[in-house]
Amino acid sequence: MSGLKRRTVLKLSLAAPFVSLSAGVARADAPAMGASFARHRRFTLGGFEVTTLLAGTTSRDTPQGIFGTNVSAEDFAEVSAANFLSTDATQFYFTPVVVNTGAELVLFDTGLNPAGITAALAEAGYTPDQVDIVVLTHMHGDHIGGLSGADGVTFPNARYVTGRAEFDHWDMSGNEGFEGKVRPLADTMTFLDPDQDVATGITSVAAYGHTPGHMGYHLESEGARLMLFADLANHPVWSLAHPDWEVRFDMDKEMAAASRRRVLDMIAADRIPAVGYHMPFPALGFVETAGDGFRWVPEQGQLMG
Ligand SMILES: [Zn+2]
Repeated sequence: MSGLKRRTVLKLSLAAPFVSLSAGVARADAPAMGASFARHRRFTLGGFEVTTLLAGTTSRDTPQGIFGTNVSAEDFAEVSAANFLSTDATQFYFTPVVVNTGAELVLFDTGLNPAGITAALAEAGYTPDQVDIVVLTHMHGDHIGGLSGADGVTFPNARYVTGRAEFDHWDMSGNEGFEGKVRPLADTMTFLDPDQDVATGITSVAAYGHTPGHMGYHLESEGARLMLFADLANHPVWSLAHPDWEVRFDMDKEMAAASRRRVLDMIAADRIPAVGYHMPFPALGFVETAGDGFRWVPEQGQLMG
C-alpha cells in the first residue's frame, strides 16, 4: 500500500505544474519504428564464448529460382504451404560467427560488406581490430565481402585461414570478388585440409559441393560441442528437410547433396547444436532426422546457461 501511495504522490507532484497534460502523464506518443531485432546472440560453449552475428538480411523473390530447381512447381508449393512458407518471396540471413577461445578471437566469414559485419560486431561488444583470425568457409561474395572495402582491410590485426582446395579453385578462376578481396590477403593465409585445426578445439570438416573446397568447422571446449555448417544447407525446409532438392548456388549439386546427408547425419546422430550461416537468425539450432531428410529444430534456450 505504501508503494502505491508513493507512486500517487509522485504522479501528482509531477503532473501538478502541467495540469493541461494530466490525461497523458508520462505517455508520449510513440512513433512507429519498423521491424527490428537484435543483431547478435551470445552463448557459452565450455570455455569458449560463441556469438552469432547478423551481418545482413534481405528478401529474395521467387525462391524456387534458388531452391528445389529439380522438383515441380506443385511439389515446391505443397511443401512450402505445409511449412507456412510463401512461394513468392523468402528472407535471406547472413550470419558470421565470432568465437572467443580465451586465447584468440576467431571470426568465421565476414558477410556482404564491411559495414554489416562491423555493425554486428559493435553491437556484440567487439571492435574489428580485436579479431585475431578470420576463417573463410568458402569464397562466395556473401562470405568474403566484409574482408575489405573503401577504407582498406576491415580486420587490421587478423591472419586468415581457409581451405586449400577452396583457395586453389578460385585462384584459377579469374573471379572478380576473389581477386579484389582474397588475393591481396593471400600472404597471410594458412591453408587447411579437412580434419585440421584452426586453433585448439576448432577443426575443419569437409563439406564439398556448394563450392569445391567448402568446409564447416567443429568446435569443442571442455566436452561441449558445436558444428558450424556454413552453406552446407541454406534453408531449414527447402534444403535441410529436402537434401536432394538442388540449390542454384551449389556448384556441384550431386556432391553438395551427398555432403548434406553425411554432415547432417553426424550432427543429428551426435545431437549437438549447430549454426547455419543462412538459417533464420540467430541461426542456432539442432538437427534431427525426419523422413528422408532432416528437421531444423531452433534452439529454445538450451544454450542460455
Ligand atoms: Zn552463403
